[in-house]
Order: sequence, then structure tokens, then C-alpha cells
Amino acid sequence: MKNMTVEEILKAVNGRLLGAEEGSSEYKDILAISVDDISMNSREAGERDIFVPLVGTNVDAHRFIDGALEKANVTFTDRELSTYIPGKAYIKVENTIKALQMLGGYIRKKYDKTVIAVTGSVGKTTTREMITAALSAENKVYHTEKNFNSETGAPITLFKMLDNPSDLAVLELGISDFGEMDDLAEIALPDIAVVTVIGDAHQQFFKTRENTRTEKLKIASRMDNDGVIFLNADDPLLLDVKGKMPVKQIYYGTTEDAEIRAVDITQTKAGTSFTYIHGDKKVPIKIPVFGKHNVIDATVAMGLADHLGFDLSKAAESLSKFEGQRQRVVKAKTGFTIIDDTYNASPDSMKAALEVLKNHETSGRRVAVLGDMFELGDNTAELHAGVGRFIVNNNIDILVTVGDLSKNIANAASEDKNIEIHCLKTIEEAIEYLQNNLFDGDTVLLKASNGMHFKDIVKEIEE
Ligand code: ATP
Ligand code: MG
Repeated sequence: MKNMTVEEILKAVNGRLLGAEEGSSEYKDILAISVDDISMNSREAGERDIFVPLVGTNVDAHRFIDGALEKANVTFTDRELSTYIPGKAYIKVENTIKALQMLGGYIRKKYDKTVIAVTGSVGKTTTREMITAALSAENKVYHTEKNFNSETGAPITLFKMLDNPSDLAVLELGISDFGEMDDLAEIALPDIAVVTVIGDAHQQFFKTRENTRTEKLKIASRMDNDGVIFLNADDPLLLDVKGKMPVKQIYYGTTEDAEIRAVDITQTKAGTSFTYIHGDKKVPIKIPVFGKHNVIDATVAMGLADHLGFDLSKAAESLSKFEGQRQRVVKAKTGFTIIDDTYNASPDSMKAALEVLKNHETSGRRVAVLGDMFELGDNTAELHAGVGRFIVNNNIDILVTVGDLSKNIANAASEDKNIEIHCLKTIEEAIEYLQNNLFDGDTVLLKASNGMHFKDIVKEIEE
């Protein structure tokens, strides 16, 4: 936010100035210092940033305060310090993350337009981007950048929401542990919520899908009676809560349980076409991306345009030019087709991507190159095996796994005797395999957790 003064920040975070003596001229000068950005990295903290030292399990960033204040003029601190640099603002707060969140929440309360918040185990960014695309046809939409969706990312997104005047905002809220959604809902105060999928991501902390569901649905916990929550009807866990929430629910998806629905889904060479239906309304849609999951995400984007009374044909036109960051279809140097879905992976998004491979028009073989999925907790082996079972009798010719965990995928898939299976250890081996064994006409899907660096495979083999 342009020019937030220390005086205003103190009010927003319920803080107290340390160092300068109250009432002194130094104190008054400090109150007038203004900031317009937030930094959690002392080396990057600029002149107009407020430095937020986080206290992690391994590192307590309070020891970087001096470094940050070489350029920055304002810092939070959760403790009294031994020395203070004259003229700098040391804002004492209970807890630095909480203060960051209070700052975001303070700005949010000044924003008087509609706020839409998106959560879910997978598909948040894609859905948020599609909603932004659909609603941008006639409006200026403020939205989360990149993946600024977490306990620290979401407040930064909120902090900046008054920077560029907008007609409405679409925020991504991501959580990975208990209690986090309470905090995020309290500061984001969504008017409309969207829950994409309840999946197995972050099982390390949530343990069960039911726990994940309970936590994600807290996105609606701060809504008043006018609140509306859009839920994916294709997800049995979300369908299960039909009629059981205190706010109005609107189900979207591809099944008969959905009030707003995609029908006649057809995968073409250029993407996917379908018809959006809601009551008597019918709108033909074409999106330049593949897979039922993208259709579901686009359906809720249309649903929001519809709910807000926007022109649906214009929303559809915007979606037809959608440029997602998650899925690219490109050519390899040696002529085969690459479905680059390497951004990240969880069991749900891996199955969604395999579905895309299965339906992809190809004159050659369908090859899945799958790597390890991390952060799945105690059920890791079983969740990998589940992906393997999904591959059985599902139109895949060759399965290549990379890494130790994904051997569990291979084991389970080996039940299908028609699949040729290779278990590799490194991405270098995968590159070599792909370069020597695939040809023009073949289609290969690449998917793994970020930590497997599958992006480097694509870099090496892409034309
Ligand atoms: P993150 O936790 O990293 O923020 P996210 O929830 O924002 O992830 P995306 O980045 O949109 O999710 O997508 C992650 C993966 O999930 C991609 O591979 C994408 O293709 C897939 N995906 C998107 N929408 C769905 C959906 N509705 N169902 C299943 N998978 C989906
Ligand atoms: Mg995301």
C-alpha cells in the first residue's frame, strides 16, 4: 500500500515503538516514516520496506534485523533488543507472523469490493487464474501473484491490494497445517469462497482427507449470511457436505450433482471444448488446455461470472485465451510430443495428468514419466501405489518411474502386463531414455514433485 506510516502500522498491529523516547522529536519523526512493501529477507529489504523477522524452527531472523536496517527503516520485533539504531522504527509485537497477518487484515478491511478466495488441495492457482481471466473481461481484477497464498504470502497479497485500484479481488489461500485457515479466513474475509478438491496433498500434517476437508472449509468460517461457497461436485468429499454448511452452497463440476455444469466435454488437438450450463443458460466454451480437471476449473470461473451477473459470452471469450502456467504441450528435439506438467505433483494432480495423457490424440505410444511425490506422510508408499493402480488398463503404453518412492507406482502398475515399465534412478537416466527410445508420434507426460527437478528434463529435451 502506498505510504503507510509507522503511526498507522502501530495501530494496525497493536504494536509499540522501541528505542526512541515517546514524545521526543525523534519519536515523532519515526511515526512519520512510511513504507509500501514487506520483506522477510534481510538482504532484499529496501528503503521503503518493513522487515518482518520470522522465527522458524532452524533460524530466528531477529538476528538479521541490523542487516535489514542498513537499507530499511522499519522492522517488527517480538522482543526488546540490546541496541537501537537512531531514527529507525522498531515495532514491538507479540508475534511477527501474527503482526504481518494483522497488517494484511487491516488493509483488507479498507477494501470495499467483493473478495473471492480459492482454496483446495490442488488446482488453486489454475482456478484462481481462470476466475481472473473470466472476470477480467469487464472488470479490473486484483489477484494473488505467483503462489503468494500461505500464512505469510496471503497477508503480503492483502497488503498490496489497495496499490492498484480494482473492481474485485481473487485470492489464493493455501494451508498445510491445522489452524492456518482460521488465520487466513480472519484476515482475507472472503465474500465468496471456492474449494477445488480435497486431496492427499499435505497428508504429512493433516493425516486424513476428512481432516483436510474440515480445515479447508474453514475458509467460510468468517462469512456472514450473504456468503456463498462454490464446491466441486466431482469430489465425493465435498459432495458429502451438501446442505451441511451454514452458508449458501453452489456445486459446480461435470456430474448431475452440479448446479453449474460442464457437459459435452471434447478433447481436441487445440485444447478442450464443452458447454457450460446453468438452468436455462448454455454457453459454448473452448479452453486451450487439456483435461477434465481444467474443465472443472473453467466451469467455476464461468459460474462466478454468472453469479456476479457478468456477460457470459465475454467471460467465455477470455477463457478461450487462457494461458495457464501449469500445463504446456510442446515438441521434443527428436519429434515426440511432451505434455509438460512438471510444476509439482500430488496423487490427485498426477491422476488428472494421466487422464490427459490417456485422452491425448497420438499416432504413437503414450508414455508416462513419473517421479517421486513428497510431503505425503506415513501413507507415502500406498499413495504412490494408488497412482500405479490408476494406470492399470488406462491406455498407457510405457511407464518410466524416476526415484525410489515412485517404484511403488511401478509395482502396482505391473499388474497390467501390457505396460512396458522402466524404473530409473536419476533424471539424467530419464533424459537418456527419452532421447534414445521415443520417436515422432509418441506422446510423453512428465510429472513429479518440484524437488525431483523434472523441469530440467524438459529443458534438455524440448525443441
Ligand atoms: P500449490 O499448492 O502449489 O499452490 P495449487 O493448488 O495452486 O498448488 P495448481 O498449481 O493450480 O494447484 O495445480 C497443481 C496441479 O494440479 C497441476 O498439475 C494441475 O494441472 C492440477 N490440477 C489443477 N486443477 C485440478 C483439479 N480440479 N483436480 C485435480 N488436479 C488439478
Ligand atoms: Mg498455487
